Amino acid sequence: MRRTRMLDMWIDRKITSFSQQLCVAKPKYVMRLRDLLSLPKEMTKGRRTSAYKYRGVAYTRSNLIFLNVKRATSRADLRYIIAHECAHLRFPYLSHGIRFKKVVDQLMKGRQFRPYQPKRMKSRLK
Ligand SMILES: [Zn+2]
Repeated sequence: MRRTRMLDMWIDRKITSFSQQLCVAKPKYVMRLRDLLSLPKEMTKGRRTSAYKYRGVAYTRSNLIFLNVKRATSRADLRYIIAHECAHLRFPYLSHGIRFKKVVDQLMKGRQFRPYQPKRMKSRLK
């Protein structure tokens, strides 16, 4: 898709609402490869030079998302990409399996999630 000012505003609103639903801080996001590559290497560790291949990448430790808007085929597709990458921020321990797919699906349907609580914290409360 071609970026326009309207599309950029729409993307920002989607990121805001998905991150609120997931109870995570709104991530920093970049939509151009050159912006991604201008960030410190430690922020994009793991998928820096390979990012262009993907439709989106989440860097969970840096609370950063790369959206490859060019590779999105429609707004619906882009909405899915945004939901998918935001879901990684809340569920860093889930890989691309059935549970992860379910989370993305529920997120897109408007579900409100509870904040992430690492297991260590939970056991301390017992
Ligand atoms: Zn993913």
